[in-house]
Order: sequence, then C-alpha cells, then structure tokens
Amino acid sequence: MKVCTTVTDLDGELSAVRNDGKSVGFVPTMGALHKGHISLINSALEQSDFVVCSIFVNPTQFNDASDFEQYPRLAEEDEKVLENAGCNLLFAPSIDEMYPGGSDDFKISIDLGALATVMEGEHRPGHFDGVVQVVNRLFEITRPDYAFFGEKDFQQLAVVREMVRILGHSMEIIGCPTVREPNGLAMSSRNKRLSKAGFNTAANISSVLMSLQQRSESYEDMEGWAIEQLKVMPEIDLEYVKIVDGRTLMEANANSETVVACAAAWLEGVRLIDNVTLRPN
Ligand code: AMP
Repeated sequence: MKVCTTVTDLDGELSAVRNDGKSVGFVPTMGALHKGHISLINSALEQSDFVVCSIFVNPTQFNDASDFEQYPRLAEEDEKVLENAGCNLLFAPSIDEMYPGGSDDFKISIDLGALATVMEGEHRPGHFDGVVQVVNRLFEITRPDYAFFGEKDFQQLAVVREMVRILGHSMEIIGCPTVREPNGLAMSSRNKRLSKAGFNTAANISSVLMSLQQRSESYEDMEGWAIEQLKVMPEIDLEYVKIVDGRTLMEANANSETVVACAAAWLEGVRLIDNVTLRPN
C-alpha cells in the first residue's frame, strides 16, 4: 500500500492510476479504524479499480475542543489494518497540508437547508460546516469516481449528497450499511473510550431504536416511547430521539418513503449516535 502525506504526492499517484484507465474509489475517515470502516473499504474494492482511504482528524468539524483532543489517533495500527484490507493508497495529510494558510481560506458556503440544522446540526453547531469543508477539500484533491460513506452517520450522508448535488461534483456517493458489535452497538472510533460497563450500557441505544421496528403507534408516540425508555437509564444522557423522513430529515409522516429513527446520547463523556431504518422494513 502506498502512503502519501502531501497533495503533490497523491496527485502523482492518482494521475498514473487514471492514465491507466482505472476508476478511483475513495473512503474518507478520521482513523482509529474498525470493521465499519473496513466494510467501506471492501465496498470500494468491489466497485472500483483503485481504492484511496484518507485519515484526517478534521479540527473544523469538532465543536468541542476536548472531543478533538481526545479523539483516538492510531496511525501505525491503522496503516496495518488498511494494508491487510487490500487498500491501495492511504492519504494521511497534516492540518497544514489540508488547509495551507489556515482553514478559513477553505470555508465554503452553501445552503443545505434543514439537512444541516436539525438533529446533529442543532446539537453540534457548526459541525456540518466543517464536514462540508473537509469533504469538499478531499473531493477536490482526490477527484474520485466513487466515494463511500456509512449510513451510521445518516445525516452526514444526506448532507454530503446534497453538497455534491449543489457543487456539481461528478462522483457517485455510495451509502454503506452500519456495522454493529455483537451486542448491537454501532461500531464507532469513540467506543474505544468506553469502559466495559459503558460498552454494555451503550447497546441500549440501538436496542431501543430496533424495538421501534416492531411498534405500530404513530411516529410521535413511538418517539415518546423511545425517549422514555432511554431517559430512565441513569448512565445515559439522551440528547434526542427523532423519527424522520429519510429524504428531508423533517418529521416523518404517512407519505415518507423512507423513515429513520435517529438518536444521540452521552455516556461516560462520550457522544454516541445511531439510527435504524423503520421504513421500508
Ligand atoms: P469516521 O472515521 O468516524 O469519520 O467515519 C468514516 C466513515 O466510516 C464515515 O462514512 C462513517 O459513516 C463510516 N462509519 C463509521 N462507523 C461505521 C459503522 N459502524 N458502520 C459503517 N460505516 C461506519
């Protein structure tokens, strides 16, 4: 596996790949890789000739400085994991390489409407500005044919699709299913910061969301039920449960083609998010 830390190096490698007529699949990550990330790499390997994974802990999408500082960084392990997965190239730039002259010069302003203001947008002000900034910068550097994102970050996937539509990027965005621990907890780099007990308790978030698949009252009542279930658990500090239309991310209704139950909660100082599709089921 080739490792590039500069844009110039990456350009050279990818020019050669494109000159050979090969398609490029791209998997952007923040590292501390787990099986969820590897499932994205596997999808990319299936659908493209040459797979690039980026590892960059993007400071501009963290609205909480201590979350940024405490974010797990495991560069050497990650490189081995990617090598074993068959990834072709790792792009691991520094902050200066990503944002020469400062990140302000790379801000982009697009109107994402409610997609960026509900749920994560409401609870993490500025988060999606940072996501759009870094993903756009990575897309301009990498110019992939396909880019792979996890449904685990359901709202992020919606935001990225809308960004690509607005900015007219020509790549295809491919959403990949959430990979879970045996206890149902969605895999996340942040899980590494949970104790054994916290890891077990965290599984309640997914199990409550999954229970909604068996319920048949109104979406409002389902939301209320899920909130009740999670609020009584003292270790879990619930931020929200929302049952939304999968396209607009507004409250789901009878006409919603896809319906997704989304939740965010704090546990042992770690912020966890998850979502489960209720319709189609
Ligand atoms: P991150 O490193 O957390 O920024 O995630 C990088 C990519 O991996 C994003 O597209 C995430 O949605 C995706 N991802 C993270 N966790 C999972 C998971 N458990 N299953 C599938 N994809 C995931």
